[in-house]
Amino acid sequence: MTADQIKRMTERVARVRMEMERACRTAGRARGDVLLCAASKTQDTETVRVAAALDIDLFGENRVQELCEKYASGAYGAKPLHFIGHLQTNKVRQVVGCADMIESIGSRRLLECVAAEAQKQGLRQDVLIEINIGAEASKSGIAPEELPALLECAHAFPSLQVRGLMAIPPAAAPGASRPFFAQLRTLFEQARAAQDGNVCMEYLSMGMSADFADAILEGANLVRVGTALFGARNSPAQPSGQ
Ligand SMILES: *Cc1c(COP(=O)(O)O)cnc(C)c1O
Repeated sequence: MTADQIKRMTERVARVRMEMERACRTAGRARGDVLLCAASKTQDTETVRVAAALDIDLFGENRVQELCEKYASGAYGAKPLHFIGHLQTNKVRQVVGCADMIESIGSRRLLECVAAEAQKQGLRQDVLIEINIGAEASKSGIAPEELPALLECAHAFPSLQVRGLMAIPPAAAPGASRPFFAQLRTLFEQARAAQDGNVCMEYLSMGMSADFADAILEGANLVRVGTALFGARNSPAQPSGQ
């Protein structure tokens, strides 16, 4: 990266932080209450390495191969790494143990598969449950009404720690995500009231470049931001795409 590119990225990070702080103030929440996840899909190793030295809390990757390559190169530095994309069961082995958290557990089958792999590797894997909050056929995630049963199922797996919920609302006009965020918040509070054992509802991961301020106003404490930090991506990549 050129000095100018680094300067621009540094400015974008500062701008996102300012907007996050403003939203926290409006919501009457503490500044440090919300974690900034840099969604680094399609960003090369060097860009990630530079970003790791900036004011972001953690990285999020969508594709297993990209995650493995950047992880092996040490680009993430000391920053935690979350997997946030669609995870095929045949790639679970590569992600468990690498990712500090898998945010995109969107089916019972995937939950069981991650639990089995974590047990095999002798570790405890942190996960979030992905909710298909807009009931979209194109998106992964469980339906909101399926959550209690899935959390019940998670109790059988001591190799898992369920730490919250994640969702990607339907792409729509500015402001249109807010009702979805509010719905997810309600679901999160309900699950928290019933939490037990290895289910502990700490993280509510919602909000991307276009709507992270709205998400914070509705209670997000983990926002996943790509474009607003790195600029437009070269190759088109769907959120949660593979
Ligand atoms: C790409 C991606 C983001 C960030 O999207 P931007 O609009 O670039 O901020 C967030 N979450 C997931 C799951 C993604 O795939």
